[in-house]
Amino acid sequence: MPNLTKLARVTARGTLVKPLLHQFAMSDDTASIRLRVDRPVTRQHDGWFHASQHPLMSEYELYQWMTGTSEPEEMSYTARMSVMFGSCAHGIIEAFLAWAGIAVPLPKGECQSCGRPYRPLRARPSDRYCTEHGYASYPTRSRCHLDSVLDFKDGPPWGFDFKTIHQFGLRDVRDMDLDCFREKWPHYWAQGQECMRLSGWRNYIFLFMTLGNPWETREFHVPFDPAFAVATEEKYRAVLSHLERGVPIVP
Ligand SMILES: [Zn+2]
Repeated sequence: MPNLTKLARVTARGTLVKPLLHQFAMSDDTASIRLRVDRPVTRQHDGWFHASQHPLMSEYELYQWMTGTSEPEEMSYTARMSVMFGSCAHGIIEAFLAWAGIAVPLPKGECQSCGRPYRPLRARPSDRYCTEHGYASYPTRSRCHLDSVLDFKDGPPWGFDFKTIHQFGLRDVRDMDLDCFREKWPHYWAQGQECMRLSGWRNYIFLFMTLGNPWETREFHVPFDPAFAVATEEKYRAVLSHLERGVPIVP
């Protein structure tokens, strides 16, 4: 049984994932954790708009991306190390979600986003398989992967993303403070919106964790913003229309 007094201190009212993560950490159940870490590489132009990169860009920047004329994003030593250790943490979160029984299983067949087959249950980790829920919209040439989809059995499922952050990154941030979340991480807010537009889920959970002692966490619940979705869709369609007509967008 979890220690409820301690539990109350580490969780905030309304959070759904944090109390379970605390129980997972404090449980003596055996749980195997499989880690697969990919070395980060600079994303190549692939003719698609990505939820994690593009929703806040201007039409000019999007046009540059689509025509392969934008500067490749340089990844610093800090960024590369953060990605590698962040992906170790993602493996632990995946094991936690399986333990908690709240992750919606991957569908059968192929991922809409990357085209790879979804990993069958019990298959060994391999590049051949996609292990995340992927969604795509062909009319707006946009796609995304979600870390997971969570089902708490008391309403529709939630989209879910897990973010790691440096040790001091959560210092002035309270759980469930949506205004603060949006102001501090507008690109994550936009990523959640775009993932909801593409997937059809209408609520999204972001769970943050500092990489390192004392492993602080913060949870935010983001509702779908239809106006933002319409604006993103119109922006993407405008850029695609320029590409089709061969009319460049100038700065
Ligand atoms: Zn995929």
